[in-house]
Amino acid sequence: MHESLFYREQMKTNSTNISLNQTTLVFIADGWARNEFLSLLDEGLLPGIKQLIEMGGSTRDVISNVPSISIASHLSIMTSSYICDHQICAHRWLDRKNHRFRNYLGLRGIRQANREVKTPYLSFFSNFPGKTLAIQQPLTLDADQGVFAPSFKGKDIIEKASKAIQNHSFCRAVIWLPKVDELSHKFGPKSESVKKEMIETSAALATMIEELRRSERLSNTRIVFVPDHGQKTVTHPKGAKVEKLLRKSGIRAKTNSHFFYKKNLVCTSGDSFAQIYLQNKTPALCKKIAVDMSECKEIEIACWKEDDLWFFAGRRGISKAKILGETKVWYSLVQGADPLGLEKTGEINISQPSLSSGYYPDFLHQVIRSYVPNKSGDIFLFASEEFHFGRSPRVGWNFGKHKGSHGGPLFDEVVVTAVCYGFGSGLPKGPIRSADLLKSLDLIGAA
Ligand SMILES: [Zn+2]
Ligand SMILES: [Zn+2]
Repeated sequence: MHESLFYREQMKTNSTNISLNQTTLVFIADGWARNEFLSLLDEGLLPGIKQLIEMGGSTRDVISNVPSISIASHLSIMTSSYICDHQICAHRWLDRKNHRFRNYLGLRGIRQANREVKTPYLSFFSNFPGKTLAIQQPLTLDADQGVFAPSFKGKDIIEKASKAIQNHSFCRAVIWLPKVDELSHKFGPKSESVKKEMIETSAALATMIEELRRSERLSNTRIVFVPDHGQKTVTHPKGAKVEKLLRKSGIRAKTNSHFFYKKNLVCTSGDSFAQIYLQNKTPALCKKIAVDMSECKEIEIACWKEDDLWFFAGRRGISKAKILGETKVWYSLVQGADPLGLEKTGEINISQPSLSSGYYPDFLHQVIRSYVPNKSGDIFLFASEEFHFGRSPRVGWNFGKHKGSHGGPLFDEVVVTAVCYGFGSGLPKGPIRSADLLKSLDLIGAA
């Protein structure tokens, strides 16, 4: 049985000691890149966050999923399960059994995503006897109530959350703060608009903390502030068109299209992640395409899977990993130098994440745990540092022009900083995967 599933069974039978006086708030800070966040914090410009730390809270390095994309990462945070468990493999993907294209970024996408995440997994809200609330959250899961703020600005959302919590005595709430991600895509993660939004959101958090103090609830409040992923700066705002790159391999494909019948399909997410679904897949064809793609300057790394083997093709060479269980792989080079920069071959233990192993933090573990049979593509592509694949229109976005992006395995995309307040000093040190964060704080199910 899967280790995290086992955990869930335990929680179900252990749910008696619950204090309904205690409030737990989880803020999902969308796309809050680590560097920008930490330098504003250093400069003393994030008062709410600073207060949490001064009152005994602690910061933690958190490693997001790969692909580092919102909906899949929210779900991983809220259910403490990996993509292979909760099975929301991307924002756009192909349901191979029913031959249907999915797009969670379309108008009805969020409703569809909510229908499809009805997993057997316990979430932050599951089995909890007190009132639970999802504020602005795209994935409401089994919250008692979902509330939407008048705008996407962090300030408005936190004000709304503060009122709801004061007036209706919610015990658990998840609060999504999407604005920084949107601004980072449009103007870049280092832009003034992103800084301004981080500062305003933090000021609203300080006001919320003050209100909780005044109503004497602060001593019974726990707060987790966690970004779902980071953002990288892209220097080619128009991005790369995967279907154009694929012509190099003689492959014709449609991108993010419902009209893919008898064609190869490319699905993008994030927008530094793309999956290729082939009509006539063979191991040789996967290898040819991945190697061709990895030679393009637009591509950081291309991966494909054959049974229990994963292959990785990068500019430097090709490697493979044989899965030996949930925490072990056998890693070897196929050709050239190591594309992942791990500097070691043979048996590798992937149970603990590390920020410094290879070019991409925790990459082997993340990629292996992100594959969903019948849903994931035949080849995974990740955009190189300067590029993204976001050519398709997105609701509310400038068409195709991005100055920030995420979805890939680069440090800026996957390593973020979380702040946990009210959990005492017993928090384990060291980096943690975002899918393990709430579980490690005993917040999954009715704990
Ligand atoms: Zn996000
Ligand atoms: Zn985004």
